[in-house]
Amino acid sequence: MITRRRVLAWTAAVAAGANAARSLGAGNPDQALKDRIFYRSDARYEPLRLASTWNARKPDRFPEAIVLPENDAEVIAAVRLAAARGWQVGSCSGRHSWNATHIRDHALLINLARLKELSVDPRRRLATVSPAWQQQAFNKILRERYGLNFPAAHCVGVGLGGFVLCGGHGWNVQMFGLGCENLQALDVVTADGELIHVDEEHHSDYLWAARGAGPGFFGVVLRMYLRVHPLPSQVVSLSYVYPAEVIDELIAWVDRTSFPDYTEWTLMRCNYQGKPAYRIRAGAFCDSARQAKMAVALFDSCPVLARAVLRQITVPAILPGDAETPHELSPTGARYFVDGAWVNGSAAEVYALVREELANPVPTQLSRVQLSGWRVAERKPRNMAYSLTARAYVAPTAISYDPSDDARCAAWAKRIVDVLKPIKVGAQLNDDNMPVNNGPYLSAQAAARLETLRAKHDPERRFVSYLS
Ligand SMILES: Cc1cc2nc3c(=O)[nH]c(=O)nc-3n(C[C@H](O)[C@H](O)[C@H](O)COP(=O)(O)OP(=O)(O)OC[C@H]3O[C@@H](n4cnc5c(N)ncnc54)[C@H](O)[C@@H]3O)c2cc1C
Repeated sequence: MITRRRVLAWTAAVAAGANAARSLGAGNPDQALKDRIFYRSDARYEPLRLASTWNARKPDRFPEAIVLPENDAEVIAAVRLAAARGWQVGSCSGRHSWNATHIRDHALLINLARLKELSVDPRRRLATVSPAWQQQAFNKILRERYGLNFPAAHCVGVGLGGFVLCGGHGWNVQMFGLGCENLQALDVVTADGELIHVDEEHHSDYLWAARGAGPGFFGVVLRMYLRVHPLPSQVVSLSYVYPAEVIDELIAWVDRTSFPDYTEWTLMRCNYQGKPAYRIRAGAFCDSARQAKMAVALFDSCPVLARAVLRQITVPAILPGDAETPHELSPTGARYFVDGAWVNGSAAEVYALVREELANPVPTQLSRVQLSGWRVAERKPRNMAYSLTARAYVAPTAISYDPSDDARCAAWAKRIVDVLKPIKVGAQLNDDNMPVNNGPYLSAQAAARLETLRAKHDPERRFVSYLS
């Protein structure tokens, strides 16, 4: 709901940014960015370039300069500087894009890491937040001060910016919605270097695109206004590990079980104690102890439960994705090859296609393939670019510490997605493997609309888009 107070606050923020930008624009943007801009000749450039992406596999792409702005006016100055030099602009927030789509040649890289605003209106359940906030840190504040929660990514460290722009499948997505469905409004620096406030009634083209166009978004997001939710009264975290021999029984159970919306699960081909295994990792977000018991009973109803080599049920004080410790499934410092496919098929149909690949060892000890049964496909269409889902989602993740594994890992992830082609309908921007996979990420209609809007709002293609 738009209140008078909120409109006044926005107007003041946008006016302050615009005034500061006018005074910067009057002078030399280089001067305005003094101490914040690092050119390729600067000794700090390469460490900053490498640090602009979390994946230890770094791209062979070199922006002309990197800017670390500390306020709105400096972001505006950076976009104007890029325009003056004829460069494109790439932006990053939490730096967790698998392929670092923001690190581009002939471009200025704006790393928003130093912008860290956060305010919460608990009555309206609205958080105003800079996109570089790491989701666990954001949720810690929401949880401890307000008893609220945002549906964060499943692993520690992911930033809000890319997560929300790309769609965002967080914990409890069925109940709380995709990250982008919770985006109510945003402040954006446009291709003209203007700061605008965007919501359903103002510049709504930008809101539509910010809800799911990901790296195809034509602006720099400075602030997000996110809907946040009351914490579920009880959370259950479940993990079962089964030997590879019982996969047929697991698949049959998954297909005949009706999982309620307050639960979510992933079936994962991985290694456990050095042996091929299948792991079911699930969360239940319950409103009562009775519901929590029902969730445990549901996952315990798997007919091969007695064969499980691990059954771990915990009632964490915080949501599983909100752990502030390093994540065992996605360690920092490793090299990742991630891909994904939305597939229209039952678990049995998926498994029939990948069976042969999964019978072979995964490329490294930590590598895995996940099948998730999110029912986002059944959601009603909303005013958003996000437009492509299917019955299930399959994501191979190859993880290594050794660059000499790269070719093998890349080929494996590609093979898994290739064998799914008969039932594949598209890919997810959050797991982009763009140079190889190339989507589609949006419905044909949404992709066409995005290009029309880009031509209107960014005719000179100031902002970088998808990798090709
Ligand atoms: C370990 C790990 C776990 C993950 N788990 C999940 C998960 O559970 N669910 C899920 O949905 N995704 C998940 N992801 C994917 C993740 O959500 C995306 O990679 C997301 O883009 C990361 O957001 P970021 O802000 O950290 O990334 P960045 O690398 O900072 O940004 C990603 C892209 O978004 C755009 N962008 C970012 N900030 C801005 C801005 N302010 N203005 C304009 N454009 C911007 C740029 O194109 C940029 O290249 C995971 C990724 C990792 C590495």
